[in-house]
Amino acid sequence: MTPEDETRIQASVDALFERELAFLSELTAHPSTRGNEQSAQDFMAREMGARGLAVDRWQIDVDDISALPGFSPVIGNYDDAVNVVGAHASRTRKGRSLILNGHIDVVPEGPHDMWDSPPYAPHIDAGWMYGRGAGDMKAGLAANLFALDALAALGLRPAADVYVQSVVEEECTGNGALACLQRGYRADAVLIPEPFNETLVDAQVGVMWFQVHLKGLPTHVAYAGSGANAIEAAIPLIAALHEMEARWNAPGRRPDDYAGHDHALNLNIGKIAGGDWTSSVPAWCVFDVRMGLFPGQDIAAARSEIEDVLRQAARDNAFLRNNTPEVVWHGFQAEGYALSQDSSDGARNAIAALSGAHKTVCGAQLDKVAITATTDARFFGLYADTPALVYGPRAEAIHGFNERVDLESLRRVTQTTALFIARWCGLEDA
Ligand SMILES: [Zn+2]
Repeated sequence: MTPEDETRIQASVDALFERELAFLSELTAHPSTRGNEQSAQDFMAREMGARGLAVDRWQIDVDDISALPGFSPVIGNYDDAVNVVGAHASRTRKGRSLILNGHIDVVPEGPHDMWDSPPYAPHIDAGWMYGRGAGDMKAGLAANLFALDALAALGLRPAADVYVQSVVEEECTGNGALACLQRGYRADAVLIPEPFNETLVDAQVGVMWFQVHLKGLPTHVAYAGSGANAIEAAIPLIAALHEMEARWNAPGRRPDDYAGHDHALNLNIGKIAGGDWTSSVPAWCVFDVRMGLFPGQDIAAARSEIEDVLRQAARDNAFLRNNTPEVVWHGFQAEGYALSQDSSDGARNAIAALSGAHKTVCGAQLDKVAITATTDARFFGLYADTPALVYGPRAEAIHGFNERVDLESLRRVTQTTALFIARWCGLEDA
């Protein structure tokens, strides 16, 4: 590919960019929180079909995936969990195949009065598009499709099979990406445009979710107010978990990718509920915890350490001595994943292709980051032996209020994606 070819591809992204923004706005208007993704998935299926991709739309069956590595126990049922994949079949198959993956689910938007404008009425202001999911990661889903559009507008298409995936469940289990693997989708590399500011994610932490149930009769009403209370009993347990968090983050335990991170593994108490009546000693309390773990850290060992920590802390508490806490593991049971540890030719070549495309568009080296969150990349990297490149636009306040994505960054990422496809897959005439 000559520099002139690359310039033409970038110009083609520019020519379609207004349409890309209209697409992103329409997609962001679908409130696709967990269980409510269908209308957004219908939109994606229609858009893929209109582009001539062969559309596969299916409901995830837990029985199909529950025995696979990487499966996370399901919260609720999967009656509404629908994945969509659009397949481009190359005529020549001279190049390397590619999965362009993105997740359609968004996290709950929280109280609407905390937003400056309604979260599902996206709008553009000063070069940013605002809306829940605009950054995480509907901009990425737009970039995947419009990178292909930019090639098509030039009479070109990838010279290898390409699968555009729009998956559910990324924000709670990853079972949507896992279901794509189970259905047989494989390629030589994966690109996931999660919003990490045009850097390449070369390591990501694992994430575990669990619930701690405290339930039983308070030992004696005389102890009320002195700790024999299910809600107050949660406090020393939470403190003990935070001590464990500090141990896991200690300098001696950090892998190289995280040597510069003081606190990569975060423990979050995300929800708590308990008690029935203001004047009654509460007999129950439930709290939800999210904990990170490093790439390479064994998930079963982490689980038993957490259970040990809770058991130890329970011994010293008046309520818990008689009512052992119960731990329920559901949602994310996600291992960490480090692309940096993949020494295969495939990984090296994919990173080189993306670096070259990024350099052409941005005029700078591709920076690499180790992130303190998880992405669906782990499924491809750990369980399908496929290098998974996470590279997407700049966004702010993802999971917060007034989430927004930088539109010039989206333009560059779409250009980089188109050039990456050209370098990785090669091109054939449409
Ligand atoms: Zn995301």
